Amino acid sequence: MAEQKNSIIWNMTRKCNFRCEYCYFPHDNTPVTETLPVDKIKDFLDNTGRVWSVRMTGGEPFIYPGFVDYCVELSKTQIIGVDTNLSVSSKVKEFAERVDPARVENLYVALHIEERERVKGVDAFIRNAQLLLEKGFAVIVNYVVHPLLEDRFHKDSDFFASHGITITPRPFRGEYEGRRYPEAYGDRAQAIFANHPEQGKKIAFNFFGVPCTAGQTLLRLEPDGTVFRCPGDKTILGNVMDTVDMADGPELCRKKRCPCRGLDHVILTPTQDALVEGVQYAVVGDSKSSGEALGQALEASPGHPCAENNLGVIAWRQGNKAAAAEHFKAALDARPERIVYEENLKGVQSGSSDFDPEICLDVNPILPNK
Ligand code: SF4
Ligand code: SF4
Repeated sequence: MAEQKNSIIWNMTRKCNFRCEYCYFPHDNTPVTETLPVDKIKDFLDNTGRVWSVRMTGGEPFIYPGFVDYCVELSKTQIIGVDTNLSVSSKVKEFAERVDPARVENLYVALHIEERERVKGVDAFIRNAQLLLEKGFAVIVNYVVHPLLEDRFHKDSDFFASHGITITPRPFRGEYEGRRYPEAYGDRAQAIFANHPEQGKKIAFNFFGVPCTAGQTLLRLEPDGTVFRCPGDKTILGNVMDTVDMADGPELCRKKRCPCRGLDHVILTPTQDALVEGVQYAVVGDSKSSGEALGQALEASPGHPCAENNLGVIAWRQGNKAAAAEHFKAALDARPERIVYEENLKGVQSGSSDFDPEICLDVNPILPNK
């Protein structure tokens, strides 16, 4: 079973001072006016009698009025973490001066290189990151490797390394030119993520029907104080301004896509564990480890359609077309209604060298009836 720490993801605001091309929020850079009293959040968390990892995210948290005051207050009893573009230099300086690094899990900093260049913010970014690192904060600078940025990733990585800043490649999640990422990196993933196998964990799996402690050990807090079960399941548990009824234990996942954090809270069988591991390796281009893990999943649950399909993807990447076709056919026989298996089989039979089969992210063991 995965480690089950207590995490609350506080979506502070959807506003942001950046305008990244691939951002899925509306670009709204007007002042943040909707705020929550920090004592309500703190009381709610403290009264659970547990220590929470409070992930402050957005939009851009540093534009939230009194942001550093919130950090100081919450970190007195809880551990905080911040997702930020690290561009609001005056607030970053105040944060570095007033917040205890020991109470901060990490600052997860998105580089967004093209937008940062557009706003002429590269030098300020380097100064801000260096300041936080000097103060002892854990700073993880991530670089979303959008397919359009693949060609410049390594050069950018070297540039920031020369300023003492390590860049972590982060898979792009979404569609580009009709293909779903990160699965569509295929073999190219090896060159990008070879030293970052942990990035495979960013996959949005389908955990439908799998027991999960979200609602008890994982929560999502909205800008108005509403508390959802998790980032994927917007079942309302209450509001920090009033009351919140958390789950008593695991409940089955009701969503077909787990956008983040679910892995720390789902309760997986050994087959599901191996399946997840196999996909994680596949996404970062480690076909050998992926094949081994998927093979274990298939051994534990013979005929598992998702394991068959994904072994087909690996066989295809390794140049074994016959084995790929066999695996896709076995997946389709087990679950004829699943279009992806049919398309993968058709693709491999077409013999096209451009064909890039799709990985299956279904974790629930939907086994054949026969
Ligand atoms: S920094 Fe983040 S929230 Fe802001 S525009 Fe870019 S992707 Fe969106
Ligand atoms: S598996 Fe993911 S989407 Fe499903 S309940 Fe758990 S955290 Fe939420």
